[in-house]
Amino acid sequence: MQQIIYDAAVVGGGIAGYTAALTLHNFRLNALWLGQPGFGEKLAAAEHVRNFPSYSGDGKGLAALLSAQSAREGIVLTPARIDAVYRLEEHFVLSENQTMYAARAVILATGVESGGSMTGEREFFGRGVSYCAVCDGALYRGRRIAVVISSAEFAEEVEFLAGYAAEVYAFCLYRDPAFRAPNIRIMQGMPRAVEGGMRVERLRLNEGELLVDGVFFLKHSSPPAALVGGLETEGAHVRVDRAMRTNIRGLFAAGDVTGRPYQYIKAAGEGLVAAFSARDYLLGKTE
Ligand SMILES: Cc1cc2nc3c(=O)[nH]c(=O)nc-3n(C[C@H](O)[C@H](O)[C@H](O)COP(=O)(O)OP(=O)(O)OC[C@H]3O[C@@H](n4cnc5c(N)ncnc54)[C@H](O)[C@@H]3O)c2cc1C
Repeated sequence: MQQIIYDAAVVGGGIAGYTAALTLHNFRLNALWLGQPGFGEKLAAAEHVRNFPSYSGDGKGLAALLSAQSAREGIVLTPARIDAVYRLEEHFVLSENQTMYAARAVILATGVESGGSMTGEREFFGRGVSYCAVCDGALYRGRRIAVVISSAEFAEEVEFLAGYAAEVYAFCLYRDPAFRAPNIRIMQGMPRAVEGGMRVERLRLNEGELLVDGVFFLKHSSPPAALVGGLETEGAHVRVDRAMRTNIRGLFAAGDVTGRPYQYIKAAGEGLVAAFSARDYLLGKTE
């Protein structure tokens, strides 16, 4: 079957991604919007949004308005958690497990994970640190691994890892974690650092250390450099210019993922600018 090559794909279901998808839709481009339903986990958590023009209320109320608008406009989210984005000749491939999507331009609107990264996490990415259970789980067959989990949503991915690893040490950032597999051990507290030599060898704990062959960080927003090879970043953020262009031609970024301030109106504005720039790129316009 012939694969559809979309004009543009937007990764991220928050306000930046939604605004980019809405703008591409208004340009009548064939755009694909990928992410988690609900307009971003942070929106559901916001108790009182006071600084979004014409709105005052809780995050859930704003999400309800966005939901009504997207239904009216016909903006459809395809539920997906993208593992990798790469260029293949003249278009990009976006993968989620075995599912592949193709688009000529991509807008990354994946947000940032609250709490930042752990010491050693970035240094050992690709050398024992992973953000994708499905992609890398099989590499740890019979090994000892640790998993740092930001939300109960990722519990199934931990169970998946336990199918390969001999032992899984689970550090959970939420209350009352529970797992089925007997080789998953729930740990107290949080590790302080990932350490090793050429590869991950251990986790530094508040007291002592834990010897492991790998560490999985399962969180809503993985670092953008882990998603797109060769993407220029500054710390946790994607480096962009004022047109939201990254160093990779045809790849744009918007919202919290490009840096502070972390605010809805900034995320929405950047989503719009990224969509304008993606359209210009598709039309072959360059500055
Ligand atoms: C408790 C709280 C209250 C806040 N209150 C306010 C406020 O009152 N006013 C204000 O202006 N700002 C507020 N903020 C900040 C605001 O939430 C953020 O600035 C805003 O959500 C950023 O939007 P975004 O679209 O860039 O990212 P996000 O809202 O974080 O959305 C990114 C989405 O992308 C998804 N994603 C990540 N990686 C992938 C992937 N690989 N594949 C698919 N999807 C992916 C994530 O799951 C997420 O759903 C608050 C934040 C918090 C935490």
